[in-house]
Amino acid sequence: MICISVDGRAQVGSVLFESFGQVVAFHHRSHFLVAFRRCIDGRTAHNVTRTGNTREYMDQGLHILVAGGGIGGLAVAYALGRDGHDVTVIEQASEFGEIGAGIQLGPNVFRMFSYLDLTEAINEVAFFPSALCMNDVCTGERVVRMPLGDEGARTPNGYPYGVIYRVDLHQVLLSACRVLPNITLRTSARLAHFEQSAGSVQVHLADGRRVDGEALVAADGLWSKVREAIVGDGKPRVSGHVAYRAVLKREDVPSHLWSDEVRLWGGEKTHLVHYPLRRGALFNLVAVFHSSKYDEGWDTFGDASELRERFARACPQVQELLARIEMWKMWVLCDREPVKVWTKGRAVLLGDAAHPMLQYLAQGAAMAIEDAVVLASKVAAAGEDFASAFHAYNVERYLRTARVQLYARLYGEFYHAAGVRAELRDELLKPKPDARPGEAMAWLYDGIKV
Ligand SMILES: Cc1cc2nc3c(=O)[nH]c(=O)nc-3n(C[C@H](O)[C@H](O)[C@H](O)COP(=O)(O)OP(=O)(O)OC[C@H]3O[C@@H](n4cnc5c(N)ncnc54)[C@H](O)[C@@H]3O)c2cc1C
Repeated sequence: MICISVDGRAQVGSVLFESFGQVVAFHHRSHFLVAFRRCIDGRTAHNVTRTGNTREYMDQGLHILVAGGGIGGLAVAYALGRDGHDVTVIEQASEFGEIGAGIQLGPNVFRMFSYLDLTEAINEVAFFPSALCMNDVCTGERVVRMPLGDEGARTPNGYPYGVIYRVDLHQVLLSACRVLPNITLRTSARLAHFEQSAGSVQVHLADGRRVDGEALVAADGLWSKVREAIVGDGKPRVSGHVAYRAVLKREDVPSHLWSDEVRLWGGEKTHLVHYPLRRGALFNLVAVFHSSKYDEGWDTFGDASELRERFARACPQVQELLARIEMWKMWVLCDREPVKVWTKGRAVLLGDAAHPMLQYLAQGAAMAIEDAVVLASKVAAAGEDFASAFHAYNVERYLRTARVQLYARLYGEFYHAAGVRAELRDELLKPKPDARPGEAMAWLYDGIKV
């Protein structure tokens, strides 16, 4: 007999499964489905621990290795883990963490949070801006303003536009993973190379250890080792653009400079974008400019005098904001040409490892989270046939992510335009009288259905 009860209080369903006279508690309907499928197949859930008169489900399902514990890696570990699979995350750093900076979250990724039952946790730490705006960096004049939230329309599917501290997003995913007993999180474990045979994947770590699994999802970022083996397209493309990032406390931002909008000040070969974070307790700034001075690299400090020089013609409000930052972190911005194939047998790429993009559409993390949800759904549909699950995921994702990669470059040109190009941009960005708010971006922000 099977008895299902859904707990209305939590977003996660609670399912009871009476099997061989014992009652097992499942925290998610999908865990139940995996175990149920296995029972039908003559396999039973095991590794069960007793709490009171129920048992916690801890199935030793398909063992999937995830290389990289960034936003993409943790999102896919969680999406697979809640479906009952055993997942081991292999992260090179000595602890799980993220660089302190803000990122924007389009409505498409809130659709994924809803799917993953993470909306509540995200909403607790995100900030919901009142509008997306663009001003001219020299004159200060407004080019376009798109109201959001209560003030403006949400997307037709009802999901908001938010901004979040990367650390907080990462922490939400990490906490979600830690709750699931079938996810193992390993640090100080750097993938050096991998091999695969008919039924398994062997990951060789840089320190000589080996980790075996049934499949490998590589979420090891822009400089992915696994990509070298699957795609082999060399180093990423250095765009010639660099980003300086800083985060201020709310009290360090004078009120005349504070804004609850995502505001972008665009100009020739430069832009500054700022928005609040952590429910308004912090203020995030990102200054971007063209520079051939830097080749490649990540996570270094910026040169404030170079920044002042680049923004010498900016309006007083921008100058004043820039002057408040003592220390900037610098990123050399890179991307790659889109490619069609990200999978080889039991190994597959996800997130920046698969489709690194410039940040101009603010979608890299969002695409990684969409990837995670699609990949888990394909694994669920294909059972133990990883090669076909990964192929189906790849086919479903490559054109959407390629479009974002290429549009991101185009938006970089848009933001940094001058002269006639800038005039044309302003003309194109003017709201059309009959268009619904955000219609031009509906292909992106309406998101995907899983
Ligand atoms: C300036 C800037 C602004 C951005 N703004 C936004 C935004 O507003 N919105 C948005 O959605 N995105 C934004 N992005 C993009 C976003 O940050 C990335 O797309 C996202 O972090 C990619 O996540 P990932 O997990 O695929 O890769 P990563 O975040 O790079 O994570 C890779 C992980 O793998 C680990 N790793 C690497 N190699 C190995 C190995 N060999 N073995 C084991 N572990 C390994 C790394 O330590 C890391 O933890 C921005 C990026 C930049 C640079």
